[in-house]
Order: sequence, then C-alpha cells, then structure tokens
Amino acid sequence: MEILLANPRGFCAGVDRAIEIVERALELFGAPIYVRHEVVHNRFVVDRLAGLGAIFVEKLDDVPDDNTVIFSAHGVSQSVRKAGRQRGLKVFDATCPLVSKVHREAERHYRLGNKVILIGHDGHPEVIGTMGQLPEDAMVLVQNVEEAENIAIEDPDRVAFITQTTLSVDDTVEIIAALKRRFPNIMGPKKEDICYATTNRQEAVKAVAAGADAVIVVGAPNSSNSQRLVEVARNLGCSKAMLVQRAADLDWAVLEDVRRLGITAGASAPEILVEEIIAALQNHFDITIERPDGATENVFFKLPKILTREAEAS
Ligand code: SF4
Repeated sequence: MEILLANPRGFCAGVDRAIEIVERALELFGAPIYVRHEVVHNRFVVDRLAGLGAIFVEKLDDVPDDNTVIFSAHGVSQSVRKAGRQRGLKVFDATCPLVSKVHREAERHYRLGNKVILIGHDGHPEVIGTMGQLPEDAMVLVQNVEEAENIAIEDPDRVAFITQTTLSVDDTVEIIAALKRRFPNIMGPKKEDICYATTNRQEAVKAVAAGADAVIVVGAPNSSNSQRLVEVARNLGCSKAMLVQRAADLDWAVLEDVRRLGITAGASAPEILVEEIIAALQNHFDITIERPDGATENVFFKLPKILTREAEAS
C-alpha cells in the first residue's frame, strides 16, 4: 500500500494555543481548572487534559464559584463573557484569534448599521459564539446557496457578510456569489473568513485525494474542519473518504483493495493519532509513505500574558 501523507495536516496555531492555555493554567494555578466546552474538538486531547486535572463542562453554571474557567477555541457569546464577569470567575480565553477577528468584523458591520449575514453551520459552537456577539436579530445565519437565494433582508443596501472559519472553501465561494448577486452592495471580507489552516488542509487533501483509492481523515465527528476534509475528498470523486478517530476504528474490509491511501488530519487532531493509524496499517500491509509538498505554515499565536513563562518569572 502506498500512503500519501497530506501536508500540512493536523494541529493549527489556534489549537496549539488553546491546549497550551489549559496546560499553563493547570501548571500555574493547579487543578481543577474548568473548561467550558471541549477546548478543541478531539476526545484524545480532552481526555489527556482531563487526566491533568481539567474539568470540561458545557455550561458556565456548572463551574463552581471562585474557580478558574477557560473558554474554548471556538469562542463564546457576549452573554457568556458577561456571566463570567458577574460571577467573578477567573477567566482565560482560548478563543482562536482568527475567530475573535470575525467577532470584531461583526461588531464593525453592526456599528455601521448593516444587517449581518453569517455563513456557517447551525449549532456549531463557533456559530453560537459569533451570533452571540450582537443583539438578537442583528445577525442571520445562512447555511447554503438555497438559503442565500431566499433570505429576506429589509434594506438590501445595508447588509454585510462574515463566515465561520472552518467551512468548505469551494462551497463558501458559491454562497458568497449568490449573496453578491442578490445584494450587489453587500460588504464583507475580500474572500471569506475561512482561516489559513482550514484552507491549507483542504488544498492538501485535494493533492492526495486526486490519485488515491481511499482517504482517511483523522479527526472527530464534531470537528467541522475535519468533516469538511472528508467532503472535499469525496467531491473530488474519492468515494472511500472516511473520518477515523483512532486506529481501532479502521475498517479493514474497506481498506483491503486500497493500493493508494491518502491520510490527513483535521486541525484539532494530534499527530500521535496519525502515527498510531500508520502503525496499524503497517501491521496489515507492506507500506511505503510519500509526503507531497504543501503550504508552509509559520503562524503562531501568543498566550495571554499572565500565562507566559516571562510573567511567571517576573
Ligand atoms: S482551525 Fe483556524 S480558526 Fe480554528 S483554531 Fe485553527 S487556526 Fe483558529
């Protein structure tokens, strides 16, 4: 079996930062540290942090008084922030700076008097957090071209769009084109708000899916960017594109006839899980590994100052 290992794959700068925030908070303040929602969408990562003393909760109400809470990389609504302040909780914000940037865009459009259209997936925590940056009714969600074609906007000249960061680049281009046709004066980012990591991983999976019999995307079912990688591979005609969380989930019957296998990982999936899956494949097949060239990533996001080693030393 020839394995084509997508490049880049796996952790992005926002995920690295979010995990480090939890680790540093545990080091500096000791367990327990509460984390609102999975800090990143990966069970392996969450279980490891839980082993170090992090307690994951879905609601702020589940954090006892006088404790420390970390907001996940997906961001939170203003009402959650306010509740944290009112309760006097010590809060660290692991929201990815690229998600925060979208929040600021939303505020700017709102101040300019525009109705804001958010292109995204209903129910995803990032979408809930982004919608929650503005008062109710100030923002409306559009999930696909059909919704873009049918959405009713009171003043078609005062409208703007923003997007979730982890969407399919190709699908989003079509949704934006539909909005621009309907609202020629719509304001928005030059392209979309899809982040560099999502864009690069989708390009990288295309490069390996093109000539592959099957593609494995290492990632979690609730990880939006991982799900999009499966879709991108399928859209290229690779019908055997599958999401796999751990080696134990591999479907050996499906893999039996596969000669060229693409492997990639979503932005919240650690490389150790890719290695685990390759090791399992090695036990079943004679494998060779190719690593096609891909985009170079050198994005790095700073930790909150209070969690840095410099702050600890001073
Ligand atoms: S996928 Fe993009 S937006 Fe999400 S955490 Fe990573 S860099 Fe940030």
